[in-house]
Amino acid sequence: MKTLMAPWRMEHVAGEAAKLTGCLFEPPGNCSHSRDRLLLFRNKCTVVLLNRFPYTNGHLLVAPIDHIDSIVSLDSPSLSALMDTVSSATNILQKELRPDGFNIGCNQGEVAGAGIADHLHFHIVPRWEGDHNFMAVIGEVRSVPEHLLTTYDRLLPHFQALQQTTTAPEQSDE
Ligand SMILES: [Zn+2]
Repeated sequence: MKTLMAPWRMEHVAGEAAKLTGCLFEPPGNCSHSRDRLLLFRNKCTVVLLNRFPYTNGHLLVAPIDHIDSIVSLDSPSLSALMDTVSSATNILQKELRPDGFNIGCNQGEVAGAGIADHLHFHIVPRWEGDHNFMAVIGEVRSVPEHLLTTYDRLLPHFQALQQTTTAPEQSDE
């Protein structure tokens, strides 16, 4: 299977992978946001999506632009950019949703619980006092599109402000 995937990775280098794989973390086009895809932010190095199957309200996914499956594959600037975005996204959640804490982490590999093991991504899960009860109740129902979009609309202006501070030169061609 790994061998079969190799040609796809070659095409990714040419910028074609998103069209071919339909990878969640590679939304087509260059737009910095898409409500349909729950894409909140995109710069040269990273994307931020609202998780369609959240553990709690505001559960974000932060991924590098490149379709890689291991943190070891990131060079130092890319790793730094990824962590900058994780930090900025956490700050936005703190300001807008005011949780009591966060789970921030990465499941690398299927055996470790990665839902999409092909493309490295970090989870930022806001936590509130007592949300264990909430999670147990909604455990099997989790996705509620109206709530997701409400959260999306609350978070988007913050990410657009971030976009302007981090990728100002890129904005003109959108
Ligand atoms: Zn990907």
